[in-house]
Amino acid sequence: MELTDTHTHTYLSNHGTGTVEQVVAAAVARGLSTVALTEHLPLPREVDPAGIFAMDAEKVGYYIDCIQAAREAYPQIEVICGIEVDWREGAEQYILDRLGPWEIVLGSVHMLADCWEFDHPDLIDGWYERGAQNVWQEYLRLWCDAVNSAVPFTIMSHPDLPKKLGFKPEFDTRDFYAEFAAVASARDVMIEVNTSGLYKPVGELYPGPELLRAFAQAGVACTVASDAHDPAHVGRDLDKAHAALRAAGYTHVTVPTRSGDRRSIPLS
Ligand SMILES: [Zn+2]
Ligand SMILES: [Zn+2]
Repeated sequence: MELTDTHTHTYLSNHGTGTVEQVVAAAVARGLSTVALTEHLPLPREVDPAGIFAMDAEKVGYYIDCIQAAREAYPQIEVICGIEVDWREGAEQYILDRLGPWEIVLGSVHMLADCWEFDHPDLIDGWYERGAQNVWQEYLRLWCDAVNSAVPFTIMSHPDLPKKLGFKPEFDTRDFYAEFAAVASARDVMIEVNTSGLYKPVGELYPGPELLRAFAQAGVACTVASDAHDPAHVGRDLDKAHAALRAAGYTHVTVPTRSGDRRSIPLS
């Protein structure tokens, strides 16, 4: 079936490798019809003092130029100029001020209100200090705030990211997952099946099967993505993402287009 990947990074993230051109070349070599570059939106210095979580503000123009050059070099593939936005408490206006050129906007929650990065292996102690249930509840609150905000998110990335280091919810998740799905459905925002979780301590796709089923039942459209931080990982494990979608009850993969539309690819 037709293959697409709507979440990738480059060395411009300051924690990945490979250039925009190498990501697009890898996508072509894998036979993809669409690839989205979705570098991390620059963060304020106080949130990322070491400058390792996101693109440098002064590189944004260069990033866009590289995407345009890759489009001209590889006309056989649709190359989407995207951005991954870190939703943070109080950051709505900061984000809205930086939305100009992006064809898709991924919404991600990587940190709680105190800017603790719950998915960072070096900061794992925060889980024991706060307790897993509190972290999950606070994450859901921020995730819903993001979806309900004025930021026009195209896709919410890795919806159950807090499980990355292995801390899965240990409570009854039916109502909890239903809330993610209801909020996404009400705002008609897409979600993604993100294969990078297979290579993290949790060893699972994001989202897991129960949450993906909740999204399917709520009619939330779903993309597939590698979240590659290395050109060698572009399009990785898309077959597993497709299998998870089928198992959850989806019949199509949804793909955003450069013009702001969506198209559907039947899961064959
Ligand atoms: Zn992310
Ligand atoms: Zn990412």
